[in-house]
Amino acid sequence: MIRSLVGPRYGAHMANPLTPDVLVDPVVLTRALVDVESVSRDEKAIADCVEDVLQKAGHLSVRRVGNTVMARTKLARDQRVILAGHLDTVPVNGNLPSTVVDDLIYGCGAADMKGGVALALHLAVTLPDPQYDVTYLFYESEEIESEFNGLNLVAREHPKWLRGDFAVLLEPTFGAVEAGCQGTLQARVTTRGRRAHSARSWRGVNAIHAAGEVLRRLEAYHPRTVTIDGCTYREGLSAVGISGGVAGNVVPDECVVDVNLRFAPDRSEKQAAEHLREVFQGFDVEVTDSAPGALPGLDAAPAREFLAAVGIEPAAKLGWTDVARFAALGIPALNYGPGDPALAHAPDEHVEIGKIRDGAATLYRWLAP
Ligand SMILES: [Zn+2]
Repeated sequence: MIRSLVGPRYGAHMANPLTPDVLVDPVVLTRALVDVESVSRDEKAIADCVEDVLQKAGHLSVRRVGNTVMARTKLARDQRVILAGHLDTVPVNGNLPSTVVDDLIYGCGAADMKGGVALALHLAVTLPDPQYDVTYLFYESEEIESEFNGLNLVAREHPKWLRGDFAVLLEPTFGAVEAGCQGTLQARVTTRGRRAHSARSWRGVNAIHAAGEVLRRLEAYHPRTVTIDGCTYREGLSAVGISGGVAGNVVPDECVVDVNLRFAPDRSEKQAAEHLREVFQGFDVEVTDSAPGALPGLDAAPAREFLAAVGIEPAAKLGWTDVARFAALGIPALNYGPGDPALAHAPDEHVEIGKIRDGAATLYRWLAP
């Protein structure tokens, strides 16, 4: 059944494989989307197919920026929700075209996140009158540096398209609801000493030995566990690198311990940096990169109804995802998608057909009038 509807891997000379009979079935649609190769920075083909389908839908106003395609209903509802998914995948790894084995669709991007994209696209074309106005965002280049990220570009150049009361990012969660996300902060903790010949080491001050105190503080550190809106966030502070040393006969004058702090979303980036400076008081701490967390924000009406439609308790998202971009705009957002996050980017990446069906039914329960 699935094989007969979807052809082999899509090529630029071929007709749009996202035909009406493919669009009505989110499972068939998932497979068709997987077969349109869309490695980051090479999303033109898939964006063309998606834009074409949305334009034909009639009830949506559509806009394209680069290879990011946006569509929205204009029903003058009180509230607007956003459904978002990235079109790109990591590089193909011998896993295209797709294959189906029992209840599983295998192929590059199947879990991360063409199954989720299929849910949004299916809904966009088959539900003309949702109970909330809906903005659909199919965006490019999530898997690479954030300067290319389609959501980032839209936020900068077309911020009106990101207005909404609640957002669902259809990233893989295996059907769970993962709300908010933790922030992350990278820093260099540097110890300094004085160089000397190691034959006369008493004339120097060894910066690597001084790093022992940095490591002891890390070892003794008790990370917080914070519960917000029923979601429990476990913080963590880890050394992720260490470097120092000049030569085999030199007392080193510098040692750098790279640390990564994952912080609950009740702390801002600034507070997280202050906390780190407290932990490493007496040492030189330089923050090299950070990204804010996102509060779960589950008290808005569309969010509560979404949770009721899914019927399971939300959990905290531990990694960093694009939900934080919505949070930065003041829009509560969560992750919910059919794929298994543990399979993302793996060569045997696959998505369960049952999870796609469940996801589609859930979104209908939530949004059908
Ligand atoms: Zn993803």
